Amino acid sequence: MEILTNSLKEQLRKKANYMGADLFGVADLEKAKPYIKDNYGLEFSKYPSAVSIGVFFPKEIIRLLEEGPQQVYSYYYSVINQKLDEISLLLANHLERMGYKVFPIPASQQLLTNKYKGIFSHKLAASLAGLGWIGKSCCLINEQVGPRLRLATILTNAPLEPDTPTNNKCGSCTACVKACTPQAIIGVAFNPDDILSKRFDPKACDDYFDYVKSRHGIGNCGKCIAACPWGR
Ligand code: SF4
Ligand code: SF4
Repeated sequence: MEILTNSLKEQLRKKANYMGADLFGVADLEKAKPYIKDNYGLEFSKYPSAVSIGVFFPKEIIRLLEEGPQQVYSYYYSVINQKLDEISLLLANHLERMGYKVFPIPASQQLLTNKYKGIFSHKLAASLAGLGWIGKSCCLINEQVGPRLRLATILTNAPLEPDTPTNNKCGSCTACVKACTPQAIIGVAFNPDDILSKRFDPKACDDYFDYVKSRHGIGNCGKCIAACPWGR
């Protein structure tokens, strides 16, 4: 068995930060293997670790979402995803050149058949990597910026020292529940054993996007992100 290396991890962290990542962590996926196999397939469940990276949204852009859908939010959503994909590719290729197996998960990876289930959960990897916890809004909540960030993930078999997951700190807060016009957020604390519908109604959120698009010509919302008190 290879010795877990902090030096390789630090190399990756430096590269990621240099490229513009605000957050970097390593997730131990071993305990989540059955969940990954059931939800994302056998191939992805074979990776023992994931590198998780995050890039922050400028807070003022998220604050504007309190007033309604914003073109500037959609613009930076794309810019940040592209930046995340660039960083992921660089880290993945670095690990691959060293002989490790990697699978970089694209930052934006909605399936046509299910908007809320991508090919792999960035939030799962990020929460296991200690970048934050999965909040009642189903977003990854980071202590520094709350949900004002986007994520990317690199699955790998490289021997990287994992970080420690963070405790859920939503507590009795219900700000995202109150902010959600179509009441898509039920207000239940995240539990990995629960099915999504116990805490979130994806169709209500999706229908609301269609509604605001028909009214404003911009199909976004994010009021739950703007309302979160963490990092506001
Ligand atoms: S994006 Fe809007 S509609 Fe969807 S859960 Fe958040 S507040 Fe509700
Ligand atoms: S608004 Fe409150 S309940 Fe919702 S995710 Fe943020 S901290 Fe958790």
